[in-house]
Amino acid sequence: MAEPLAPGATIGIMGGGQLGRMLAIAAARLGYRAHVFTPEAGAPASLVAAETTVAAYDDRAALAHFAAGVDVVTFEFENVGLDAFDVVEALVPIRPSRTVLATAQDRILEKSFLNSIGVPTAPWMPIRTPADAEAALAAVGLPAVLKTARFGYDGKGQAVVREEAEIAPALAQLAPPDHPFPTLIAEGFVAFAREVSVIVARDAAGNRAAFDVVENRHVGGILDLSIAPARVDAGTAAAARDAAFAIAEAFALEGLICIEFFVIGPGEVLANEIAPRPHNSGHWTIEACAVSQFEQQVRAISGLPLGDPARHSDALMKNLIGAEIEALPALLATPGLIPHHYGKTAIRAGRKMGHVTRLYPRGELPDEGGIAAAFRPALG
Ligand code: AMP
Repeated sequence: MAEPLAPGATIGIMGGGQLGRMLAIAAARLGYRAHVFTPEAGAPASLVAAETTVAAYDDRAALAHFAAGVDVVTFEFENVGLDAFDVVEALVPIRPSRTVLATAQDRILEKSFLNSIGVPTAPWMPIRTPADAEAALAAVGLPAVLKTARFGYDGKGQAVVREEAEIAPALAQLAPPDHPFPTLIAEGFVAFAREVSVIVARDAAGNRAAFDVVENRHVGGILDLSIAPARVDAGTAAAARDAAFAIAEAFALEGLICIEFFVIGPGEVLANEIAPRPHNSGHWTIEACAVSQFEQQVRAISGLPLGDPARHSDALMKNLIGAEIEALPALLATPGLIPHHYGKTAIRAGRKMGHVTRLYPRGELPDEGGIAAAFRPALG
């Protein structure tokens, strides 16, 4: 981009969830307006945006109208059909690009891309018809994870297969008999030591910035807790960061990307997933860094200089899932806790309702017992 977006310019955000909400807040802090495109009335992002278009992602007229009124488009939700992006892209730049989005939407493209640039993944094989399943699972070995190639998130569209007798039930779970067979992948089950992620930004001029590697704990496939920085040795952190930079470079990324990794040994990481947008595992940056992941995304897509991603504090970030949000009054009453509520009124099991962050001086993260107690007594 020749010139940075001027204050008062409008950033279009595809998707209306909490990531879009925090992105819109960051955009506002830099003097920009946010225009959210979402199918959901009263979506978390639209509650803080200057403007919202409520329409289906395949409503071409609404997409064109939205695109005509914004200066750049980004997304907070990658499972938007590429047709929507074609309509938008004809009128206004989209950052990150269509290629990045298309790759991240499809586990086969994603893993092929990662392997093609030398980033290791768990062993994997595509399953395009039920008849492929047995050979694919034999190739990757048991135990394995079957995953739908497209439109999976938060552990949805996955089934673990530990022995041959579990293949048929797993296929039945992922491929309902009255629907066309969804393409799957079989992936070797990774006995990881830890899960970590890295968020990097890259701008049009090729400048890059990485936030520190963060450690993530999932419960039921959903992120529960992030620990910043990850408790890994320098070589492991460097391996994750170097892989993330290589991915950003290979895409000629303009924007922000999160890469999730399995740590399998010192200096050894396997890439699991690419998310070309701010990520739940980066929420700690809001309080623990001078420039958050959301502000960094805004900077990267607007032609502004990237911000310094340095971590001034260590942090724990706990997601508030479903009924955990009911602890908000107690969290608010606890000194040192920084709660966020996403403005969602309907509580549903597994729904991300908010999160809470706790800061520590650098180098003073608590031990395991302290981590378990960090949000007590407000959260059990
Ligand atoms: P995903 O949707 O691929 O990010 O998977 C969600 C979570 O499921 C991951 O963060 C892991 O905790 C777990 N998981 C996914 N794939 C594997 C695997 N191949 N081996 C072990 N655990 C996995």
